[in-house]
Amino acid sequence: MQTKAINVNSWIKERIKPEEVDKYLKADGKDFINDKEIEQNLSTNTKPDIKRIKDIIDKSLSIQTLTLEETACLLNAEDAGALQMMAEAALKVKKKVYDNRIVTFAPLYLSNICVNDCAYCGFRRSNTDASRRVLSLDEVKKEIEALAGEIGHKRLIAVYGEHPLTDVDYMVQTLEAIYGVKAKTKNGFGQIRRVNINAAPLSVEALKRLHQVGIGTYQVFQETYHHQTYKTVHPEGTIKGNYKWRLYCLHRAMEAGVDDVGLGALFGLYDWRFEVMGLVAHSRELEEKFGIGAHTISFPRLEPSENTPFCDNSKYKVSDRDFIKLITVIRLAVPHTGMIITARETAEMRRKSLSLGITQTDASSKIGIGAYSERGSGQEGSRQQFFLGDTRSLDEVIREFADMGCITSFCTAGYRCGRTGKCIMDLLRTGKEGQFCKLNAVLTFREWLNDFAGEETKKAGEKVIEREIKEVKVAMPGIFSNFMDYYERIKKGERDLYF
Ligand code: SAM
Ligand code: SF4
Repeated sequence: MQTKAINVNSWIKERIKPEEVDKYLKADGKDFINDKEIEQNLSTNTKPDIKRIKDIIDKSLSIQTLTLEETACLLNAEDAGALQMMAEAALKVKKKVYDNRIVTFAPLYLSNICVNDCAYCGFRRSNTDASRRVLSLDEVKKEIEALAGEIGHKRLIAVYGEHPLTDVDYMVQTLEAIYGVKAKTKNGFGQIRRVNINAAPLSVEALKRLHQVGIGTYQVFQETYHHQTYKTVHPEGTIKGNYKWRLYCLHRAMEAGVDDVGLGALFGLYDWRFEVMGLVAHSRELEEKFGIGAHTISFPRLEPSENTPFCDNSKYKVSDRDFIKLITVIRLAVPHTGMIITARETAEMRRKSLSLGITQTDASSKIGIGAYSERGSGQEGSRQQFFLGDTRSLDEVIREFADMGCITSFCTAGYRCGRTGKCIMDLLRTGKEGQFCKLNAVLTFREWLNDFAGEETKKAGEKVIEREIKEVKVAMPGIFSNFMDYYERIKKGERDLYF
């Protein structure tokens, strides 16, 4: 753990490396988000006819990324028939690329000290009501013992504020601590096998260090793509106040070898249609420059947060109806990209979103620092960034998915076998990744059912597994006996077998 004396102001000054931004800018010094072009697309494609919508949907169904103009048409569609067609197509796209799989993870907040002052965040430095904390390595290990030993999570999203005390050295140490824990379970041990990160933009050098530790996806949400709004909610002079440093972080991640990157916008800061266009523009830019779009897209809605009046007063809050539409449009616009909905949303909204193409979600979530291991505490407002909408356990959430015919996959084989970045995107586009994923979903789900499921969840899960095995037998006869051998070995107690 870092103990040297730190001069926060000089650290802030050195944080941004202009040369790691400038080289990506256009000849006129501008970035790739053209507010005027987005607005023009939204204001000119206002009444798309049903034939146009059908053509756009056909393009999505052939798993191609939509243009900004096509995305604007979908965003502007209001006709009930068109909306119905779009919702049905969204699910078809999801099935084509990801079948009936859903991936679960848990958020792990490691610190809430932050040098920034984002108007909407409970961790902002001017919030004197927040109780501040940085987890020690021992505390991190205790959190993992609860997450991997008791609940059965295999994937995390590790969340960090931006501060010299939680800089890349701390990130590397905590990641190593997380991967190193073998947590006792009733049948042996559980382990976290993939850690994704949600943190501040870093330099190429720092991102390379994270890549070496073996991170999954690096997520940086742009919050708002609208330049003027960005300025308003992120005070000038703070690191986060630099729009371009943030916007190009995922370019730097690609440069550093982290080729699974996660985009996001915080919906409720500006017009939701504009933000969807920004996300699509960002994904297209990455595809153009690196041949790979975003690995995942997140679309959190602004939630209330203690002592943070901004969250209650924003005029851009997104209604449930618009939220459903934005999920549908994102699913159709970037068909191969994973889509994450979090426990910020209610159980009902999460159920609805599943039938529109969501691929990942969290469960048993606690966002207070230290809240997984320190029972009965940690969920109070002063220790968490905002309030959650769905606090159901992983067991309950998985049972519901199973009842809806979905299989929860704990597979992390992709990144451990080098199936990341362009490789995974090509496999997803062609439907080939689906083969590995289907097999690994069954194997890892079997493992989880044996080690962690309650009786009812086990019954519901086994029904799904039975059906999946029948499908594998028909669809992949060549590999079936190998697959069943792994399956039987897992039933008898072997762990972590995958294709
Ligand atoms: N500090 C890093 C940063 O800002 O990128 C990463 C961690 S921050 C805790 C993670 C995300 O939480 C932010 O990117 C933002 O989108 C989201 N967030 C902040 N305040 C929120 C609120 N009141 N409601 C919902 N999401 C919020
Ligand atoms: Fe800090 Fe991130 Fe919160 Fe902004 S959103 S105050 S950068 S933790």
